[in-house]
Amino acid sequence: MTALAATESITARLSERLAQSLGPHRFSMWFRQSAQLNYRTEQRLLEICVPNQFVADWIRRNFSDALRQVLAEELGPQADIVIRVDASLFHTSTERGAPFASPVACRPHRMTPGPNLRHRLDHFVVGPSNELAFSAASRFADETQTPTGPLFIHGGVGLGKTHLLQGICARVLHRRPDARVLYTTSEQFTNEFLTAIRGNSLDAFRRRIRQLDLLAVDDVHFIANKQATQQEFLHTFDAVELAGARVVLASDSHPKLIAQFSDALVSRCVRGLVVEIRNPDTETRLRIVRALAQRRGLSLMETVVATLASRCEGSVRELEGALTKLGALAALTETETDGVAQGAPRPIGQLLVQRLWQTQEAQRPLHAPRFARIVDCVAERLQMDPQRIYEAGRQRQAVIARGLVAYFARQLTRMSYPEIAKALNLSSHSTVIAAERRVQEQLTQGQPITLPRTLEGVTVSEVVNRLRGDLSA
Ligand code: ADP
Ligand code: MG
Repeated sequence: MTALAATESITARLSERLAQSLGPHRFSMWFRQSAQLNYRTEQRLLEICVPNQFVADWIRRNFSDALRQVLAEELGPQADIVIRVDASLFHTSTERGAPFASPVACRPHRMTPGPNLRHRLDHFVVGPSNELAFSAASRFADETQTPTGPLFIHGGVGLGKTHLLQGICARVLHRRPDARVLYTTSEQFTNEFLTAIRGNSLDAFRRRIRQLDLLAVDDVHFIANKQATQQEFLHTFDAVELAGARVVLASDSHPKLIAQFSDALVSRCVRGLVVEIRNPDTETRLRIVRALAQRRGLSLMETVVATLASRCEGSVRELEGALTKLGALAALTETETDGVAQGAPRPIGQLLVQRLWQTQEAQRPLHAPRFARIVDCVAERLQMDPQRIYEAGRQRQAVIARGLVAYFARQLTRMSYPEIAKALNLSSHSTVIAAERRVQEQLTQGQPITLPRTLEGVTVSEVVNRLRGDLSA
């Protein structure tokens, strides 16, 4: 078979599989009338040529998952997809019957594997730890106020930032289906920016982003040490806002705590509304467990709900993970005991949860960060000499630092209170208990860290989240 014939045959096979996956009507409308498929063998690249940006965005938004799945199944995970806007291939719209063709031509944009909008604001469980962020997100999505800068949502891993960002986009699109909305991560932004530079298509890249009504960029901390991207991001930011569009950002920490963020970027980020999501309290965790279980069709006994909520304190993602495993264990046990499960499933009880913990304990890594590393990380974040933490002096900053050290030592090591006291040269372990408790209170109350002055306006919980990241690195 010639190379050309091979290419055509792969393209035909991909088309066939896509038609099966999407149904003939949708396939014909979007991939026959409004697009041309072409597989490039050497680059292992499926090129989708479309007449205009609208079709490109539509395909990207609605068919990314199906495309990626078909491609992976047929050609393995290495194969990639590109969407190229090229009006010249489509002559006049009426000739080809393409409903969306219009003469807008620009260079190709790599189709990044961005998630579809999976989350809805309506599915978000609200409690004291996230109500500020949730109400800011809802107001932002409902466009009830004229924006005075971006909305910046930050918090630890797995606490619902992506959920809120995608929920905002989904709600805006629901209310205004023609709105130009882009949800992206800063990692995708960086990749597309670099691809655009390499492909000499920076203008097209900028045009696309700057025509938006809403730009949502997730995980902006990712660009912390990328100077060129930061610069571009800053320009994008200004241009988008100048054009009257709105920007919402999410990050794992407060803008002021993102190392290497330029002053200009920090000042843009804090100009609007900066809201934090903290770890949910027990009551909220209980409600989240119930809601997540219900959405997965799992029936849990109340004691199980309580156990999960008390064991998974870290993040909602942890709760989700535990529920997924529990669901799998439950399905397994049903088949073990009953053969094929019949009738309504029995509620999941404590026995199964015990099994879940046993498997999890066995998988837990043994090496906890050593105590000295906790001290070093805390000292670095609070911009002080680590020696001062060991010296047991009463200066405020040292006291704050020791509280944080005690908190993390209890969480991440097996050290007892007396052992921590000894390591910190404290005469009594009750000081350690009090210090740890103080941090816990500050965390739930969202109190600001008072020192050092450079962290003015930053909360203890924000510093703790940042440190958690430092210590897991
Ligand atoms: P982050 O982006 O902050 O790391 P995600 O938004 O990805 O976290 O959240 C992790 C998972 O937990 C997601 O599946 C999300 O839907 C769920 N989740 C987080 N917070 C909530 C909440 N308050 N209510 C319901 N689900 C939540
Ligand atoms: Mg996220």
